[in-house]
Amino acid sequence: LDAIRTLADIPAAQARARGQATAVKFGARETSFAELDARSNRVANALIASGIAPGDRVSALTKNHDGWYPLFFGTARARACFAPINCRLAPGEIGFILGDAGPKLLFVGEDFFDCALAAVAGLASPPRLIALYGAHPAFEPFEAWLAGASDAPPADVPQLADDVLQLYTSGTTGLPKGVVLTNANYRTFLEAATEVDGFAYGEDETVMIVMPLFHVAGTNVSFSGLAQGGRLVLVKDFTAPDAIRMLREEDVAHAFLAPAMIQMMLLQPDADGAAYPELKSIAYGASPIAEDVLRRARATFGCDFVQFYGMTESAGGGSYLSPAAHDLPGKLTSCGQPWPGAAMAILDSEGNELGEGEIGEIAIRGGIVMKEYWNRAAATEETLAGGWLHTGDVGYRDADGFYYVHDRIKDMIVSGGENVYPAEVESAIMGCPGVADVAVIGIPDDKWGEAVMALVVASADLRPEPADVIAWARERIAAYKAPKRVDYIDALPRNPLGKVLRRELRAPYWEGRDRAVG
Ligand code: ATP
Ligand code: MG
Repeated sequence: LDAIRTLADIPAAQARARGQATAVKFGARETSFAELDARSNRVANALIASGIAPGDRVSALTKNHDGWYPLFFGTARARACFAPINCRLAPGEIGFILGDAGPKLLFVGEDFFDCALAAVAGLASPPRLIALYGAHPAFEPFEAWLAGASDAPPADVPQLADDVLQLYTSGTTGLPKGVVLTNANYRTFLEAATEVDGFAYGEDETVMIVMPLFHVAGTNVSFSGLAQGGRLVLVKDFTAPDAIRMLREEDVAHAFLAPAMIQMMLLQPDADGAAYPELKSIAYGASPIAEDVLRRARATFGCDFVQFYGMTESAGGGSYLSPAAHDLPGKLTSCGQPWPGAAMAILDSEGNELGEGEIGEIAIRGGIVMKEYWNRAAATEETLAGGWLHTGDVGYRDADGFYYVHDRIKDMIVSGGENVYPAEVESAIMGCPGVADVAVIGIPDDKWGEAVMALVVASADLRPEPADVIAWARERIAAYKAPKRVDYIDALPRNPLGKVLRRELRAPYWEGRDRAVG
């Protein structure tokens, strides 16, 4: 890590140490560290030749693809800031992000040519369009754009203060916000990551990347893997059967999975059974996991599990629940302890620190906290007030210093004066026979203000009666938290990270009325 000051140093440092080793495997194609380094330099020089100056934004709209890595490292090497876009959004939403980030160049994967054209149509200053892979008459071919660029590193050296990555939040609670992360943020991230199970990998160990590269989980696991000389196996589209097959056949030692991915993998008939020969750890996070899912996952995969709690605004860092802590009594529902170099606290609505067991807003401090939200001075000020990153999540800390996330403040249900956290109710219902998936929301109620409602996806072979679901919940959680109403839905609306879009589920029930929370 000594040779890596900024993210842009990763390819060169590893090319010197292990040039011929595989950096990225994508399908059948393998790229060595030496090739990654040379190609990143060529991208940097081509960007500079295209008029990209330090601080300019460069965007990509693509599925996971191995061309992403030289594009990112080349952008960082040119001291520009990479702003990848969630490719699952609609053209209008992508247009909004492009208008916000203002990239000069947009690299597009072949699956999104039409989408990109629709998205840039309304922009005052549309970016230059380049096809990252695939061909389309309206897009310059990548290799033509790159042709003639030198593979020597540009003279101008990246600085710790440079904006290096502008990641948009998942848009779970509203419009996505552009989170500006600097090389200094990632310097802190990498120093901590190499000390934390789930991000600390051995040289030449294989790390599976299924999280999208437009999200902090996908980027960070990639950076952590490459910085430590690991071999990334990159997956274009997540499917549960493929993920299981790759864990078994690609010598995968480490993977980061969203809870919804784990849930889908457990539904596969062959998940249990044959071994996962090289698998050492599965990291999970980005949304709450139901206790039942976590227990089954640990039994099925038989490796270490590490939970991460964090957000885009904290460069993905925050707290972690170590493999050993998973076995401590009562800690399985915890999101763990602050990781190296980060501090956490529970704050009241005035920003005062609360004591153990007291419920309030989770806050994070340290070198991982973002510089700002792009173009949103007021939101930046509010979120970073008093030197803390206000996460928007409610939770508490126990006597041992372990943190617990209840849920997002905006999703909290206030029923008869009591606060109910949907994630806790969902976790309780998840183990009920016949429940394949569940989301809990607050709906308007004349007597209670809000009533707890569960939207259940029934499993293929059994559809539980609403009364059974309610009874199941009442045996496990306080009566006021149990749903008053249960309805059925074919599938839950989820974003690409598998996060349930509760605001979409709530909308039809709240038409024409305002919610007190959120
Ligand atoms: P937006 O801010 O646009 O609404 P988002 O908050 O979903 O989207 P991210 O930065 O991807 O965008 O997600 C961070 C949030 O994810 C956290 O604030 C928290 O609510 C949730 N989260 C992350 N890790 C965990 C975890 N281990 N357990 C429970 N929730 C988690
Ligand atoms: Mg958020």
